[in-house]
Amino acid sequence: MSYDNTNIFARILRGEIPNNTVYEDAHVLAFKDIRPQAKVHVLVIPKGAYVSAQDFGARASEAEIAAMARAISKITQELGIAESGYRLIANTGGHGHQEVPHYHVHILGGQPIGKMVHLP
Ligand code: 5GP
Repeated sequence: MSYDNTNIFARILRGEIPNNTVYEDAHVLAFKDIRPQAKVHVLVIPKGAYVSAQDFGARASEAEIAAMARAISKITQELGIAESGYRLIANTGGHGHQEVPHYHVHILGGQPIGKMVHLP
């Protein structure tokens, strides 16, 4: 799947759409989800053009891959949920119900998140 430059997160990265930024570095941007599904719901995205977790894992540099993991640890610490716990979700492709075709990791926390999966 080729990267679609018009996706909503590409537009956020270009500054065309506002966002509620919680963290930024050379490789990563993190912002609040517009439709939060928990008290804390943050999206962490690479600044590079990657469609999905599949694409990111295949093509991203070591520095970009490390930056995502480091950013998640920093963000959860800053948001005060590192100790209480949280869930990371990277919906991927059709069966993963990915809606925005730019790789992103959801951080959900601030309250108990419940069971891992509800199948349709
Ligand atoms: P997905 O289903 O692709 O894993 O999740 C996409 C997420 O992006 C959803 O949770 C949705 O609420 C969020 N989202 C969609 N459009 C926007 C937007 O314009 N701004 C922000 N902050 N989040 C968005």
